[in-house]
Amino acid sequence: MDKLLTQAGLKCTKQRLDVLNILNTANKPLTAEEIHAEVSDIALSTVYRILDKLLEKNIVIKTTIPKSDGVYYELTANEHKHFAICLACHKLKYIDICPIHNTTVSDFTVTGHKLELYGYCKECIK
Ligand SMILES: [Zn+2]
Ligand SMILES: [Zn+2]
Repeated sequence: MDKLLTQAGLKCTKQRLDVLNILNTANKPLTAEEIHAEVSDIALSTVYRILDKLLEKNIVIKTTIPKSDGVYYELTANEHKHFAICLACHKLKYIDICPIHNTTVSDFTVTGHKLELYGYCKECIK
């Protein structure tokens, strides 16, 4: 994780590493509030400042979920993971497989893709 910071020319501070480690171990994109809940010794405003810096350096990416005010952050390295979003509680769940992996388009070179699934989680479907 510290390599991500030094490669981007950022100083390796404990707070930045804490935020990165939380994002790295989380199995889904997190909001700043969720990150803050894990590192209660860092002020929420500091968490936002760290995330802005990491965004600027392209270490994390920001995802906004339609129909929710949540702004989620995840490591750029995790970007290719896809997730399903519950429209009721806005919980995210990573999908283990990539259904469009190896999809080819004629006369077109595919360099990446995005896929988000919408629906209802186990709790909300009841
Ligand atoms: Zn739900
Ligand atoms: Zn994919």
